[in-house]
Amino acid sequence: MSEQLTQKVLLQATNPKTGKDLEGKFEPNSLQDLSVVAENANTAFAQFRHTSNEQRARLLESIGEEIMALGDALINWASTETGLPVSRITGERGRTFNQLKLFASLLREGSWKEASIDTALPDRQPVPKPDIRKVLVPIGPVAVFTASNFPLAFSTAGGDTASALAAGNPVIVKGHNAHLGTHQMVAEAIGRAVKSNGLPSGVFSSLIGADFTLGQALVQHPGIKAVGFTGSFSGGKALYDLAVARAIPIPVYAEMSSVNPTILMPEATALHAAKLAQQLAGSVTLGVGQFCTNPGLIIGIESPELEEFCAFLQQEIAQLSGGTMLHQGIYEQYHNGVQAAIAQPEVETLGSGREAKTGLPGDPLIATCKATTFLGNEQLKEEVFGPYSLVVKCKDAGQMVEVLHKAGGQLTITFMATDSEMKNNQELLAVATTHAGRVIFNGVPTGVEVCHSMVHGGPFPATTDARTTSVGTDAIKRFTRPVCYQDAPQDLLPDELKDHNPLNVFRTVNGMITKDKITTD
Ligand code: NAP
Repeated sequence: MSEQLTQKVLLQATNPKTGKDLEGKFEPNSLQDLSVVAENANTAFAQFRHTSNEQRARLLESIGEEIMALGDALINWASTETGLPVSRITGERGRTFNQLKLFASLLREGSWKEASIDTALPDRQPVPKPDIRKVLVPIGPVAVFTASNFPLAFSTAGGDTASALAAGNPVIVKGHNAHLGTHQMVAEAIGRAVKSNGLPSGVFSSLIGADFTLGQALVQHPGIKAVGFTGSFSGGKALYDLAVARAIPIPVYAEMSSVNPTILMPEATALHAAKLAQQLAGSVTLGVGQFCTNPGLIIGIESPELEEFCAFLQQEIAQLSGGTMLHQGIYEQYHNGVQAAIAQPEVETLGSGREAKTGLPGDPLIATCKATTFLGNEQLKEEVFGPYSLVVKCKDAGQMVEVLHKAGGQLTITFMATDSEMKNNQELLAVATTHAGRVIFNGVPTGVEVCHSMVHGGPFPATTDARTTSVGTDAIKRFTRPVCYQDAPQDLLPDELKDHNPLNVFRTVNGMITKDKITTD
């Protein structure tokens, strides 16, 4: 056990606007606490994995109701701990509530388990074909690391927790030290919902750590079967490396780092330079730039039209103010990141915003360089988390392709383009779908809809697993695994796989999606 954990140093949240410690001290958990909650989670899993879709839907709805019942106390506390405005936190609470409801509706519809049935062919030659039936099952206790920039929607009762519980997995949340009080209020609300639904307490637990020791021990604990994470590249990669080095490795779904390239095609730039500059300035500075989908790289083709866009962008940014950043670490990383970027040879400052007169200020800054500079420099493709973007000027569309390849895996890639420009530049689109989880046309990447078709993921380093999403209903699949039954008697099969389809769910029968019952004669 670490020295700090044995000393039981108390943790305290800070108001990022004033730098003052907030009321309330929080006792960090020990490694013994971790062992206890991991054991409870595994005990609870034996029961929770067999709960019905309806039971888990009710649990998710109860969690939403308990969070709403916290009222203004939660909103005000989260706003004080993070420096985010009350309006933003209120919107985020709505998103968290609706996300829980969306998973509840997914469970009630039922086909999320992807039941698939291949009926037997006993007369097949040269050998009979057995009856094979497949369904998704929960993976086991899931560890969730919460994000500093979404104290509700990507935190204690956020998408990772909702999707893991929906699939039938107990969850252990590691609370973020930047919003300890918010975490505690929400964790207690979830605990009440678990209790009122008659479920074992081990279905949900939460821990906080004095340092990284506890989180690292959490991903290494043999009782943990998967990890969800949103945060920095260094944190996500460190936890991923620990998880894959375990005697029994486990999956880590870490959403980490993305510069979200935005490509300005020449015709669209010529037609809408002022509007594009306004849209992008707004997106770069939204929430003091503290969004994983912040457009941190703007790519155009050298031309008078691009220069006009740059002049408009300079004007737009000059009118915008910075704001309070979430915590000391993010503030320092932002300032170091900006300084490192503009100190690079042949990188210039294009424009900057008004200085924020507040604690931990994050002031907007736009830099610019030629594509050849970007292509020859490893530093410039790094995410600078905050209200910053780099405008890269290319010779032609071919060089845009090179810049996209250099920038690597992304959550999003955006095209500002006319229809004919997209039709005539199919290679750019092909490169975008190679490197990003979401491709956007004539919009901005900030603003992630929570729905069935959303992909909030992407190739490394955006995430550690490009096959999944952390937002939207497909997130549930991360915390499942497929099991198939071969020649199993009907009464031993899960309901989704029974011939008479008692749950009336869509499933694949001999390759066709249907709700039909199976008749064997
Ligand atoms: P973070 O520092 O990665 O922290 C996220 C969580 O992981 C926290 O609970 C943290 O513990 C824990 N953690 C971090 N490094 C760890 C390690 N090496 N071992 C064990 N646990 C570790 O993320 P953050 O505080 O949210 O923001 C910092 C940076 O993350 C930002 O500057 C930005 O670059 C990036 N970020 C990215 C996104 C995104 O969506 N891609 C979102 C937010 C932030 P503690 O609570 O003890 O710190």
